[in-house]
Amino acid sequence: MRSGFERDDGGFDEATARRALGMASTNVLRIALYQATGDEELMRMPVAYAPFWAGAYEGPVLAAEYDERVREKALDFLRTGAHSRCPTPDDATLLKLMENLVGRPVNDYLFSFGKEEANFTPFPRGVEWTSGQRPDAAADFRVIVIGAGAAGLVAAAHLRRLGLPFTVIERNGDVGGTWLVNDYPDARVDIASHHYQLALTRNYPWRHWFATQPELLDYLRGIADDFDLRGHIRFNTELTDARWNEATTEWDVTLVEPDGTESKVSANVVISAAGLFNAPNMLDIPGVDGFEGRIFHTTQWPHDYDYGGRRVGIIGVGCTGAQLMPAIARKAAQVSVFQRSPHWVSRMDNYRDPIPDDFQWLMDNVPHYWNWHCFNVFYMLYADDGAIQQIDPEWQRGGGRVNRTNDLLRDNIRSNVLAEFADDPAFAEKLLPDWPPFAKRLVVDNGWFDALKQPHVDLVTDAIERNTPNGIVTRDRVERQLDVIVVAGGFKAERYLWPVAYTGRNGITLEQAWAKDGARAYVGVTMPDFPNMFIIYGPNMQARSGGLFAWIELWVRYALDGVVQMIEGGHRTMECRREVFDAYNARLDTAQDECIWGMPGAQSYYINEHGRQAVNNPLRPSATYESIRRAKIEDYHLA
Ligand SMILES: Cc1cc2nc3c(=O)[nH]c(=O)nc-3n(C[C@H](O)[C@H](O)[C@H](O)COP(=O)(O)OP(=O)(O)OC[C@H]3O[C@@H](n4cnc5c(N)ncnc54)[C@H](O)[C@@H]3O)c2cc1C
Repeated sequence: MRSGFERDDGGFDEATARRALGMASTNVLRIALYQATGDEELMRMPVAYAPFWAGAYEGPVLAAEYDERVREKALDFLRTGAHSRCPTPDDATLLKLMENLVGRPVNDYLFSFGKEEANFTPFPRGVEWTSGQRPDAAADFRVIVIGAGAAGLVAAAHLRRLGLPFTVIERNGDVGGTWLVNDYPDARVDIASHHYQLALTRNYPWRHWFATQPELLDYLRGIADDFDLRGHIRFNTELTDARWNEATTEWDVTLVEPDGTESKVSANVVISAAGLFNAPNMLDIPGVDGFEGRIFHTTQWPHDYDYGGRRVGIIGVGCTGAQLMPAIARKAAQVSVFQRSPHWVSRMDNYRDPIPDDFQWLMDNVPHYWNWHCFNVFYMLYADDGAIQQIDPEWQRGGGRVNRTNDLLRDNIRSNVLAEFADDPAFAEKLLPDWPPFAKRLVVDNGWFDALKQPHVDLVTDAIERNTPNGIVTRDRVERQLDVIVVAGGFKAERYLWPVAYTGRNGITLEQAWAKDGARAYVGVTMPDFPNMFIIYGPNMQARSGGLFAWIELWVRYALDGVVQMIEGGHRTMECRREVFDAYNARLDTAQDECIWGMPGAQSYYINEHGRQAVNNPLRPSATYESIRRAKIEDYHLA
């Protein structure tokens, strides 16, 4: 795994450099070059903004007339073999460079988060002992981490740095979590790879702008190896029960070992990194047991099964269904796509494209280009601070639906879809939701529209009534004959921490704690009555901006910061104060009403059985970031 900028000093090849610089964002290149050279002319070049993702966001760009000048300056610098005069900028310099890159003031939130993403110094989200040394009291302080997906690996890597004894419990046979299990055809991330990465690693040579599942799995396996974590992970082992033991002030947990036997282990702290997407939603179709073909969920892909030349039914048109359908259509004889309700689907530049070697050359050979590229990607995704999901009452009073940008995005996607199917507007209408974009996850077009145009692909919008031995009958009494059914039904995501049975202080179970209106936590991470327990990717924590990996690192930092402060303070337990928990959740409820998830038609896995939206974070990302920047120890009872 790369540890940072690695200049290849094997000789300067002008042709390669020219090709690589031709691929650079000149605005990013300009700032990298200024940092390296101090050439003030670069700082005087003006910045404009260009929309992306159908107008959902915008990003800073340099006016085209400066492109060549910047590239020539970069070439001159590289030709001389000069080294950067400023490898690690101080905060004042960094702020100046950020503001110049974006052409706007950069507030404290964007600066701090952006500094971590720019990753100039190793482990920007690390947690350290105050004295720089592990205190003696920490030597027998044991931590159990549940799960070896990205979150579990991040927790493990930082626990290792802190020197705290820990064990990771993983029910699968390998690391990777989501990216181990979701290996259906064409699975990939829909956030730019240079943001969907962990700040534990630097200048990772992604092969695609939007990494594929095999790449992501390689990446996470690389982290397990490079941080020497595998020896701490108990694979093929499931944690089924966790009870707080008041006498020992420890968690007693039950494990199901690889051979099926049960064992008991105790630990001072439990960190649940169990993820949100681990309970596949198989859907409840009457008659499914009598279906004589194959049926499987997208997480159970049978790689020995050839669907080529077969009649395939795909149930679900969300992110997964839309992502895999074009791949299926390339090989299958007939594809029936069952759509309960349409999703907003939008094109994304470079979505399926590999990253050219020349671009990686830039990252490896132009000092700081990688750092500023990562910052730029971050800024484009985060600068609006979640505004796209925020209801603007004034805009609504003027006849708008949500807010200016959200309505613009809706109009843009709508026009794109109508243009795609200009010869069949009635069909296009079937692809247009009535709820606002971003009230559910925006689906990236992976060839979805093109695939739908093929004669052997059939979009079925009548509701599924039942299975027959040979296929599926819809409400209009039409039977589609199928050899195989792929259930792209997503996950029972509202069932937080399920199926582990947690019992906290005074015998309180999670079901009791969450009986009123579903899963809740303080800053998504801790709960009253459940001392020394930390949830990564907890209730109401799906961020309004960006990709999950950055947030995972922030939650882990919060949890470990709490553990470090507890140990350094000479305590053995920390438990969220009830009044702090209540006040935070009241704040969430107020913020919830100002967001789009409850708007008509926006039913999704975000809404739990109580009708409450318990998955997304209704706070502005800046407020969330602030709330988890450090564990405020005064929010906790310590003992
Ligand atoms: C198909 C798909 C596409 C996605 N695309 C994106 C995307 O584009 N952008 C984005 O930001 N996010 C995306 N996500 C969300 C993704 O889940 C997160 O980004 C991230 O990978 C979550 O990592 P995690 O470690 O929290 O959870 P997971 O990756 O789910 O890992 C949790 C691990 O815990 C283990 N585990 C759970 N319970 C137990 C137990 N009781 N005992 C033992 N082991 C247990 C599981 O086996 C698993 O390995 C996607 C999710 C899916 C399913």
